[in-house]
Amino acid sequence: MAKEKNNESWEYAPSLESTAHIQLKEKYDLFIDGKWVKPKSGKYFKSINPANEEVLAEVAHANESDVNLAVKAARKAYTNVWSKMAPTERAKYIYRIARLMHERAREFAVIETLDAGKTIRESRDVDVPLACNHFFYYAGWADKLEYAFPNRKFESLGVAGQIIPWNFPLLMAAWKIAPALATGNTVVLKPAETTPLTALKLAEIIEESGLPAGVVNIVTGYGDTGAAIVNHPDVNKIAFTGSTAVGKIIQKSIAGTHKKATLELGGKSANIIFDDAPIDQAVEGIVNGIFFNQGHVCCAGSRLFVQENVADKVIRKLKQRMESLYVGNPLDKNTDIGAINSKEQLEVINKFIQIGKNEGAEMYQTKCNLPKKGYYCSPTIFTNVAQSNVIAQEEIFGPVLTVQTFRTVDEVIQKANNSPYGLAAGVWTDKGSRIFNLTTKLRAGVVWANTYNKFDPTSPFGGYKESGFGREGGMHGLSGYVKLND
Ligand code: ADP
Repeated sequence: MAKEKNNESWEYAPSLESTAHIQLKEKYDLFIDGKWVKPKSGKYFKSINPANEEVLAEVAHANESDVNLAVKAARKAYTNVWSKMAPTERAKYIYRIARLMHERAREFAVIETLDAGKTIRESRDVDVPLACNHFFYYAGWADKLEYAFPNRKFESLGVAGQIIPWNFPLLMAAWKIAPALATGNTVVLKPAETTPLTALKLAEIIEESGLPAGVVNIVTGYGDTGAAIVNHPDVNKIAFTGSTAVGKIIQKSIAGTHKKATLELGGKSANIIFDDAPIDQAVEGIVNGIFFNQGHVCCAGSRLFVQENVADKVIRKLKQRMESLYVGNPLDKNTDIGAINSKEQLEVINKFIQIGKNEGAEMYQTKCNLPKKGYYCSPTIFTNVAQSNVIAQEEIFGPVLTVQTFRTVDEVIQKANNSPYGLAAGVWTDKGSRIFNLTTKLRAGVVWANTYNKFDPTSPFGGYKESGFGREGGMHGLSGYVKLND
């Protein structure tokens, strides 16, 4: 099959990752109390491959009664088994899950790419290794918690309800499940409706690992399933990653209850390029920050700020680099930008692109031929953008970048912080003192210096302002799952 031509002067032979070794069931039930059970709702929905619109599998749509069963199983497992188990024993199970995931890394990567539309390069090199490493990392903490909370008395919370989005499906499941288990909690997890398959594969691995029944329960469904978890009276903790709009609903629902929460929400992160920055590396950092993973990253560097005297150079080089980006089949190892996760999300992105044009910003899109089937979007930048423009304020969650210029450090700090969000930022400069000056003044949970979108299980992640609260990852990620008593 001839690969779609992206650019006149570049053409690669396709290099498709094989799907021969992937085993998907036609129909997935709910994973509750260590067993696969049919949904009481009797309903199933289809999970679609956004790269070609083909149905991958049917998946159960859990209702309130199904969620109730899952919470009951998690409570029973918490009271009778998991909270009583020696931490070293708990650690062994978590290690076992990590090892089994590692052994089946390729299978996970291909399923993630099929279900989410993200490139195989990303799921193979980023999502799956990081997900394994989260389990390895938190397995290590399970029997060392007294060092995480020195001189404090702590106890686990009980049942954690965890709701995750579609941009890093397996990785988000790992971020949520691993620290919860390490601290002695049990779990009811709901993956996003467009990307349930790797969480269901993870359930198979959990089954294989011999983890006691009910310690991890995986219920699939839509927002109503998530709401049933949030509102269940016997859930002690809600861990949510997703949109700020749903985060606000959740916060209202649990106000006045005993439930503890961590919310990781939207972002509109600033990527700041000074005139002394290594420009070519910075251009790669911009591309990595917004175009790889189709801009489906809550901390995407979606607002670019370039110092005025190098703006022309940076924009010229960025456009040149954009022209060499391959948009197409995510299973192809040459592909830089895969499919947009769903038809609905593509519509959202296109709506914002139209708003940008109507606002009078200047648009540049690469001249690539998008595949005829599936949901795709060309990398897009807007210049001549004002601070007040909708495209510079609202989260687009697609490969769309706004470019603004600045002259002084104070000006860029003010501009970067002028956002309801505060998830992440990037700073590109040769001067260490400038990096330290900025990192203390930018209201963002993570600030990368001379790099972007780098993750590690040992470092905490989370936001300020409307990007949420609480930290996931690192030692800080344990705090959200314990009660400190004195
Ligand atoms: P996104 O815009 O990234 O899709 P959402 O916030 O809509 O983010 O979805 C993130 C997760 O939250 C998904 O698993 C989704 O099903 C779930 N969800 C959506 N609405 C609600 C709700 N009202 N209560 C709980 N979970 C919800």
